[in-house]
Amino acid sequence: MCIDLHTHTHFSDGSFSPQELIAEAKKEGLRVVAITDHDEVGAIAPALEYALDSAVRIVPGVELSIDYDLPGRAHLHVLGLFIDHQYEPLIRTLLDLKKARQARMGEMVGKMRSLGLDIPDAEVEELVGQGSPGRPHLARVMVARGIVPNLHAAFIDYLSKGKPAYVPKKKLPIGAAVALIHQAGGLAFLAHPFSLGYASYEPLGREILKLKSQGLDGIEVYYSKHSRYFTRWLDDFARNNDLLVCGGSDFHGAAKPEIQLGRGLGNLKVPYYVYENLQQYWEENGRNDRAVGG
Ligand code: AMP
Ligand code: FE
Ligand code: FE
Ligand code: ZN
Repeated sequence: MCIDLHTHTHFSDGSFSPQELIAEAKKEGLRVVAITDHDEVGAIAPALEYALDSAVRIVPGVELSIDYDLPGRAHLHVLGLFIDHQYEPLIRTLLDLKKARQARMGEMVGKMRSLGLDIPDAEVEELVGQGSPGRPHLARVMVARGIVPNLHAAFIDYLSKGKPAYVPKKKLPIGAAVALIHQAGGLAFLAHPFSLGYASYEPLGREILKLKSQGLDGIEVYYSKHSRYFTRWLDDFARNNDLLVCGGSDFHGAAKPEIQLGRGLGNLKVPYYVYENLQQYWEENGRNDRAVGG
């Protein structure tokens, strides 16, 4: 009996609709799926509705990109789980980020045009739909137009940091992101800890404790790219430091075809008790009551 607490839909950079995601979860025999789109909660309402008559439980979530000083390609993402996706201040903040992403898309398309490469707005808009635009959308248009052979090349040649069409995106500071998740009734987790870029455990541990002092509730222990040894270290670290544990595949559908829902790269298994522990903590700690939990 397994679960998946990290997935994306086409409301951000995944390719599945909420309905397709639930159908896939059913096929995989998953009991619980958290939807955690980047800076976006639009998929939650339709997902909750579709899930009503299925055996799959949906945990409302979001994945926030954090403005945080890290070397090189390292990056900090925070997962909010058990959030109230209708909480007004959350929706307002996400709308601000979406507008910033839309403006950024305009800038990136402008940069492509100044390189002599035409990217019709309509083609980007069709892919983005009601969602939040990101580099993967632009990359897909570039592939469709034959500008690059595949998504990876789009990043390597144009969209990665330092490349000609790169534009940085607006991100939230860590304290604000964690506070927002808490105010929305949710719990905040460090997503895919490997992406902080530390080569050894000690400095990573120190960084995680620093994040905890900013209000972080837990860490994503189970993740495909974590070795068995690293997973065990993270699990012990969480237990020894009073941090909650979550885990998921980071499923993006066809946008990251090597990753399967629930199974990640094939080696992932997030046990049901991970969900039970979180659900219990969440209920006992009043995070579901904004008026009290704050
Ligand atoms: P954005 O939020 O618009 O900056 O886009 C970030 C997303 O781009 C990540 O979540 C990945 O899904 C995708 N991405 C980043 N680097 C690459 C890459 N080298 N190849 C394919 N996808 C990438
Ligand atoms: Fe993504
Ligand atoms: Fe992420
Ligand atoms: Zn993700």
